[in-house]
Amino acid sequence: MFVEIDNNSGFCFGVVNAINKAENELAKGELYCVGDIVHNDSEVARLADMGLKTISVADMAGMSGKRVLFRAHGEPPASYALAKERRLEVIDASCPVVLNLQRVIKEAYNEVKEQGGLIVIYGKPGHAEVIGLVGQTNGEAVVVESLSDLQSVDFSRPIRLFSQTTQSLEGFKQLAAKMREEGGESVVVYDTICRKVANRIPQVRSFAAEHDVIFFVSGEKSSNGKQLYEVCKEVNPRSYFVQGADNVEAEMFMGAEKIGISGANSTPRRLMDEIKLKIEKLLKNNG
Ligand code: SF4
Repeated sequence: MFVEIDNNSGFCFGVVNAINKAENELAKGELYCVGDIVHNDSEVARLADMGLKTISVADMAGMSGKRVLFRAHGEPPASYALAKERRLEVIDASCPVVLNLQRVIKEAYNEVKEQGGLIVIYGKPGHAEVIGLVGQTNGEAVVVESLSDLQSVDFSRPIRLFSQTTQSLEGFKQLAAKMREEGGESVVVYDTICRKVANRIPQVRSFAAEHDVIFFVSGEKSSNGKQLYEVCKEVNPRSYFVQGADNVEAEMFMGAEKIGISGANSTPRRLMDEIKLKIEKLLKNNG
């Protein structure tokens, strides 16, 4: 029997960059993070122990002269304006990929609004990154999560379609095809899915198929985690969604020869190492 950690899983460079920035800035003094720095409770708790205080955008309105960190998901222009108004120093840890997407959407919005056009974003309504993207369009972009949401799209207008960076490539292709069917040439499609996420799907699929049991480690709030776990379950019914070593019991891997541990882009490596140790301990105790 062997236990293997999926070396492709774990933090993407956007999250690593945000955490490094937070650690460096905490060494200089008090720091507030707008929203959870990463969708993983354990990592949020580790940084909270180092002094990082998590606040909401609304909390910024009651603060002044403090330092606030904007996390990898990015923020809409309104957050920058609020920080300026309240004399807050912004430590901008927005992922460069997201910042670039915000810029491209803003340019497209300025262009299509002259022609009565519309920006459509394939994403999760209310997700932090999506709020930042919609903010580039004066709040006018239409967010669609599934084909049924297309009812709210006016296909008589010129349309530019973008995607939240962490959405599924397959879902985006289906949506784009349907929109081209409805709107023809007036629908211009921009594939803006981050390949760090899109590439993980085939990687996770083969990893799950190669093992008898999969422990998929992720925080409950991570949309990337939920999506990758579904991929695991599709190819391997003995896939478990766990948040940490405490969720792992010996019965879960009974009779298995090959045990795989994988995780989301927001899953710290140390959590996967802890799960490996727990499994090895249980095997030893039961063996
Ligand atoms: S998933 Fe991609 S776009 Fe999102 S934070 Fe990571 S590197 Fe940046």
